[in-house]
Amino acid sequence: MGKGNHLVEIYNSLFKHFGPQHWWPGETPFEVIIGAILTQNTSWDNVEKAIASLKESGRFTPHGLYNTQADILARLIKSSGYFNIKAKRLRNFLSFLFNEYGGDLGRMLKEDGLVLRHRLLDVNGIGPETADSILLYAAEYPIFVVDAYTKRIFSRHGYIPADATYHQIQELFMKSLSGDTYLYNEYHALIVRVGKELCKKNPFCSDCPIEYDLYKPRKNVTVNVKCQSSKFK
Ligand code: SF4
Repeated sequence: MGKGNHLVEIYNSLFKHFGPQHWWPGETPFEVIIGAILTQNTSWDNVEKAIASLKESGRFTPHGLYNTQADILARLIKSSGYFNIKAKRLRNFLSFLFNEYGGDLGRMLKEDGLVLRHRLLDVNGIGPETADSILLYAAEYPIFVVDAYTKRIFSRHGYIPADATYHQIQELFMKSLSGDTYLYNEYHALIVRVGKELCKKNPFCSDCPIEYDLYKPRKNVTVNVKCQSSKFK
């Protein structure tokens, strides 16, 4: 069986175990984008606090934030960590939105996906994971988002080398799976769920649907990591 079929099996197993994840946790495409920028190097709880603070300020619109000074913005998003850097990143994105699309988010999101990806990557502070999160979760463009959990899980199982690049990992998934926005949306969310709950530095493989459904029955396949006993014991 090829890697592609395994990736589908892993998805099915995760979906069966965890169910739909209802991502992205944001009420509007604008909130998704702001969350995608703020979530760099911090937990989602801290991002939620920062977004709540932006909403309470009454400035949580493209125009509202565009017209907010960097120091005020930094104060409002303090809970997200690295707040001065992130305030600059938000302002870089907002300048891009106003310079290129007149501040019209709908227009930006209707842009051709690959063109928008290139343009977003030119914005200082937006890397591939953030750009692809914006494309997938705000623009509903079918692109696979890769994060540190993706790299950890799939290198532990030998699908990619430990030093694989973002592009190599993305290519593996996009060549192996149908280009389906819903599938990419759920798969990434499920990977994050496994990574956060089970595939930690010391993984809890005996509780993991990937181990249980896919690897135990194939005794010839080994995981490149020392597993912990169950977290539920
Ligand atoms: S917890 Fe174990 S079985 Fe699950 S993804 Fe991580 S290494 Fe694989």
